Order: sequence, then structure tokens, then C-alpha cells
Amino acid sequence: MYYIMLSERISSIFKKITYAALRAGRNPEEIKLVAVTKSQPLDKIIEAADLGLRIFGENRVQEAKQKIEKVTGFNLEWHLVGHLQTNKTKEAVRLFTLIHSLDSEKLAIVINREAEKIGKIQRVLIQVKLSEEETKYGVNEEEVEGLLEKCQILKNIKIEGLMTIPPFYENPEDVRPYFRKLREIRNSLASKYGYLRELSMGMSNDFEVAIEEGATFVRIGTALFGPRI
Ligand SMILES: *Cc1c(COP(=O)(O)O)cnc(C)c1O
Repeated sequence: MYYIMLSERISSIFKKITYAALRAGRNPEEIKLVAVTKSQPLDKIIEAADLGLRIFGENRVQEAKQKIEKVTGFNLEWHLVGHLQTNKTKEAVRLFTLIHSLDSEKLAIVINREAEKIGKIQRVLIQVKLSEEETKYGVNEEEVEGLLEKCQILKNIKIEGLMTIPPFYENPEDVRPYFRKLREIRNSLASKYGYLRELSMGMSNDFEVAIEEGATFVRIGTALFGPRI
């Protein structure tokens, strides 16, 4: 098998990010790459950090904790991109700069409480579920506003935007309506709740389309590191 070096994959992804942004008339600097390292070994993370990547995404608190403790000295930002159970919240608030997966009022209250204990303002995104796949977490479109409303009184949470995981399609154009929908939801909330800047959407197969539709965080795993083991 032809082996492509991580450095080449990184520069190829940054090129694609840049061109997608320019196609959409956006500033490429608005788009932040979250390198998703779930199920990837430590040495790949260290190699990526050595090559200059700074934001890493994990989907399990326990796995992330072990990695975060071992990869030191790079000044990295760790993001939680997977579902958060309330019993892991204390740990999550200590570990993650940004939690992409707020999906209930109950979780918001617990995050807020844990953040308050350590004097942190926890940055979060609301995960929105835009399709009826049973396994997916997230609040429905109609519930986003209610959750925002309830979070107004939680002083140690800062909601910065929305996140979604659309269904997988081979053809990224088929995912475009989901990305567009998330942007429209964000825009429709702006008059009441202020402009939520961040849209976390787009993965290895469809991040260019996501950027064309307004993504500010793209979460990329396999296109950077190859298949997960
Ligand atoms: C695994 C994962 C990704 C990365 O997926 P790839 O297709 O490997 O790029 C992005 N977001 C979430 C929430 C994930 O769990």
C-alpha cells in the first residue's frame, strides 16, 4: 500500500479548507481544524502536534484523559466531540476547552455546576439532531431555542454555537442540506440570543461542503490519520 505521510495529509487538508473557504467567499482563517484522534495511538497525536496541529478531538472522556496526561508540552486544546454522560462531567470540565455535545438541560446544569466549582466558564456547543437516526444524540431542531433559553441563567456555561453529525452519504453533496439547515437554525436564533459564532460540522468525507455552508470547526479523523484501529 502506498504510504502517505501525515505531513502531506495535513497540508492537503489545509489546502482543501482554504479553497473551500475562498469558493464560499469566506476568510479561511475562520475555519479551525479539529484533529479527531479517537482510537489513534499516542505517537500519532505527538507526530501531529509536532507538525503544528493544536486542536484535538476525542469522543470518550476516559480515553481522552489518558492521552491528555501523556501528551504535554505542546499547549494543545482538547475538544470533546462525543456524547457526554452526566457522571463523566466533572472530569470533562477539567479536561476540555470546548464541549461540542451539549444535548440536554440536565447536562447543562451539571456542566455549569462542575465549572463553577473550579472557577471556569465552560465553552459548549449545542448538538442538534437533524435526522431521525435512532443512535444519534442531540436535541431536535425545535428544542434548540428552549435549551438556549434555559441556559441563560447558567453563568458558568458559554454557548458559542451549534454542532451536528449528519447521516453518512457517499456523495458529500447529499449532506449539504443538513449543513445548510444548521446554519439556518443558527441564523434564526440570532435576533433573540445574539449571534452564535461557531458551527461544528463536516468530517473527513464532507468537510469541504460543510465549509461552503458555514462551518467554523471541521472535525477530521480518518483523512488525517487513516482508518481507526
Ligand atoms: C469520529 C468522529 C469524527 C471524525 O470522523 P472521520 O470521518 O474519521 O473524519 C468527527 N466527529 C465526531 C463526532 C466523531 O465521532
